[in-house]
Amino acid sequence: MNDYQLSPIAFIESPYKQKFAIPRQPRLIPEAKAKCKFVGEFNREEFVRGIEDFSHVWLIFRFHETVDKGWSPLVRPPRLGGNDKKGVFATRATFRPNGIGMSAVKLEGVHYEHGQLWLELSGIDLLDGTPILDIKPYLPYSDSLPNATAGFADTRPETPLVVEFADKAIAFCENNSALYPELQSFIEKVLKQDPRPAYKKTKAGLQEYGMSLFDLNIKWQVIESDVTVLEISKNS
Ligand code: SAM
Repeated sequence: MNDYQLSPIAFIESPYKQKFAIPRQPRLIPEAKAKCKFVGEFNREEFVRGIEDFSHVWLIFRFHETVDKGWSPLVRPPRLGGNDKKGVFATRATFRPNGIGMSAVKLEGVHYEHGQLWLELSGIDLLDGTPILDIKPYLPYSDSLPNATAGFADTRPETPLVVEFADKAIAFCENNSALYPELQSFIEKVLKQDPRPAYKKTKAGLQEYGMSLFDLNIKWQVIESDVTVLEISKNS
């Protein structure tokens, strides 16, 4: 009686192909654009009639990548450097009962072409393939709470890293700007928020990483607080 079955109404097509480097909340990176494609019986224009009048929408979604990995009552928020534990319901952790997430994102457009309905979104914090369970318009008069306080997460996360690009990485962005608009600025903002796990942030010396955005493999290195994007290439 108290078990519910939920079916996706849509799926997200996102440049984030892996969890690593996705921002921890929406709208931190406006260049993060996505399509929300409706499926099955929901793939009809009437389901979104009037939505274009709203600048932002709430996405209610399933943390599909991690939902099978369980949850625990206490989690270590990255904000606290992985040192302190908080109750799961005092955090926005992905590992939670029911595996449900919520993000308020910018609505850039509504399209219906060749029998496919989709929303263009920006500022997303969702993995490619994320199932969307519901969509609701963001209501500023009620959803915006300027006097709210947020304990350990009260301020926008700091972005202490300086990001530079090697010449060949800049050349890749310039030569492929038609296919990947704003690529350099997108990568810069993704790396500025320091996607490294908490325990690596204090490590001295050179560290090298790779990450996937779109169908691209991006190699970068960190020395102290300086990040250099070394190379960008297409996934083979
Ligand atoms: N804004 C949402 C919320 O508060 O419910 C998500 C917050 S959660 C801390 C954001 C993280 O979820 C991202 O950094 C990414 O690692 C992870 N994530 C995004 N989409 C996911 C998915 N479909 N499955 C599992 N993890 C996901």
